[in-house]
Amino acid sequence: MTTDIIISVQDLEKTFDDGKLKALQGVTADIMRGEVVVVIGPSGSGKSTFLRCLNLLEKPEKGQIFFNGQDITHMSITERAQNGISYAFQQPVRFKGITVLDILRIAAGKKLSVSDACAYLSEVGLCARDYINREINASLSGGELKRIEIATVLARDVKVVVFDEPEAGIDLWSFQNLIRIFENMRESYKDRSIVIISHQERILNIADKVIVISDGEVTRQGNREDILPALMGTDSAVNAC
Ligand code: ADP
Ligand code: MG
Repeated sequence: MTTDIIISVQDLEKTFDDGKLKALQGVTADIMRGEVVVVIGPSGSGKSTFLRCLNLLEKPEKGQIFFNGQDITHMSITERAQNGISYAFQQPVRFKGITVLDILRIAAGKKLSVSDACAYLSEVGLCARDYINREINASLSGGELKRIEIATVLARDVKVVVFDEPEAGIDLWSFQNLIRIFENMRESYKDRSIVIISHQERILNIADKVIVISDGEVTRQGNREDILPALMGTDSAVNAC
């Protein structure tokens, strides 16, 4: 892992409901190149809003977002794309009626070979031969769609990938595989940063950094080793008492 900052967020504020609901109240955080960041915090504390602001899905009222030192806060999605600034955001596969291969090619943004597409499917534990020409429709189970979603994230050639509670609804698929995908991703793409909202201890265990959000503010952030013991109440300072 290198140590330069890929994304820097300064004093981000975001409100809803005509300013009555303050979802983010001055969030400041750094994401380093190649690191795995896990964002935790109570339900409704602003975690998804934070990631959606990073991804331009929400527009903050105040604050700045820098990518590689460049202020991208007010760039349009097109301008960001032209500057090579894009994130892979895990989202429901919406293009019904097209095939799994098509959707992987759309994600990759280039003519992905069938064998490359198959490799992404294998990475998420789907037998490529069975799935590559399947149509995206109601015949796919929730677990299969979830894995296809994750394969589209893998197929995108980007520096930052973002997952919002990826463990939700994967009952049909072993959670172990999800962890393995994150570990493989970290090994295979050393300069790719992975940002995950998750409360799963197994996912927290692969974090380089943990960001704790509460009531729209970052209450703690730092190395997993420093943050987690305190959160679990097993801080050595506590134990010493
Ligand atoms: P978390 O992901 O930590 O559960 P969210 O970021 O989804 O929290 O939400 C933070 C707060 O902002 C919550 O009070 C939520 O109801 C509110 N909120 C989020 N998105 C919207 C929206 N599009 N419109 C109105 N309120 C929203
Ligand atoms: Mg959320």
